[in-house]
Amino acid sequence: MALQFTSTPSTARKAQAEREAVLADPGFGRHFTDHMVLIDWTVEDGWHDARVEPYGPFTVDPASAVLHYGQEIFEGLKAYRREDGSVWTFRPDQNAARMQRSAQRLALPQLPTEDFVESLRRLVEVDEQWVPAGGEDSLYLRPFMIANEVFLGVRAAQTVLFSVIASPAGPYFPAGVKPVSIWLSREYARAGKGGTGAAKCGGNYAASLLPTQEAFANGCAQVLFLDESGDANLEELGGMNVVLVKADGTLVTPRSESILDGITRNSLLELAQDMGHAVEHRPVTLDEWRDGVASGEIVESFACGTAAVITPIVAIKAKDEADAFGDPDAPAGEVTMALRTALTDIQHGRADDAHGWMTQLVEAR
Ligand SMILES: *Cc1c(COP(=O)(O)O)cnc(C)c1O
Repeated sequence: MALQFTSTPSTARKAQAEREAVLADPGFGRHFTDHMVLIDWTVEDGWHDARVEPYGPFTVDPASAVLHYGQEIFEGLKAYRREDGSVWTFRPDQNAARMQRSAQRLALPQLPTEDFVESLRRLVEVDEQWVPAGGEDSLYLRPFMIANEVFLGVRAAQTVLFSVIASPAGPYFPAGVKPVSIWLSREYARAGKGGTGAAKCGGNYAASLLPTQEAFANGCAQVLFLDESGDANLEELGGMNVVLVKADGTLVTPRSESILDGITRNSLLELAQDMGHAVEHRPVTLDEWRDGVASGEIVESFACGTAAVITPIVAIKAKDEADAFGDPDAPAGEVTMALRTALTDIQHGRADDAHGWMTQLVEAR
């Protein structure tokens, strides 16, 4: 049976002027709305006490399991406002299903899809005024789940907390889409065979931060990880999937059990097929990419994920010069930009939603 939500409206909502100042230049992940969703889970009672509360710090015991063993998962998706005032989100059932798979891997309980989607709806309804209008702006939704049992024994926690918070997000590229260079890491991996690479968990991100610092220090936007096979198979970036575009129009994306199953990637590949592109989902080596760029067989490449949608990749930098290729000053590719437009037009309600990907959260005004 679906969870029933209770609601405690905030008595300290941000004033309209303050909210409007934030929405005028939201950046990413720095400002939060007036409310949050919390749902408790225990072994005895399952999911219970679903509630909307004023946004704010909650107490976590210093012995809470998540602080010691990192038993945590999260999701990320966006709410978009249309011209008629209605608010929509993109494929929330896919995020719900992926969170269930992540939960399974991290030995956390699975939140049913209808409760996941209802938690988004509740939060966006109460904080509706925080959904920006126009352009590429959106309200970023961050569902997450933590082991919250007060116990230092090493086993799956028997007390868990699910929460959703929301943060207005401006365009990822305020000055227009800017192609990036990516730092190849041979020294570090984000995941290994049988590990947690396919789960959206904080631990994967923790593992990516040191190589990401190295990337920043070398003028790169992100790290590219390879798998541990020794064959230099491509995995993905710290938080985005990778797609290569061949001269004949074929799109190629790496297949591996330790890659995060990106909803943006999957959707872009479906749109590409609608446009007549062939799509290959198979192991891809770094050599294939480098040699393909050199021979002209691979003409574009991009990274993709909810936050930035698509980021064109024009060069790979690396410690070993022999690993580097591409032109850091090259423009974004045509196929890359056409796919970006096709997807963002659906998300923002500017194009027909032929696949039925959009879910309405708030009615038109
Ligand atoms: C979230 C995430 C992605 C992108 O997934 P989307 O569903 O497209 O947002 C890619 N890689 C990693 C490691 C991620 O955590």
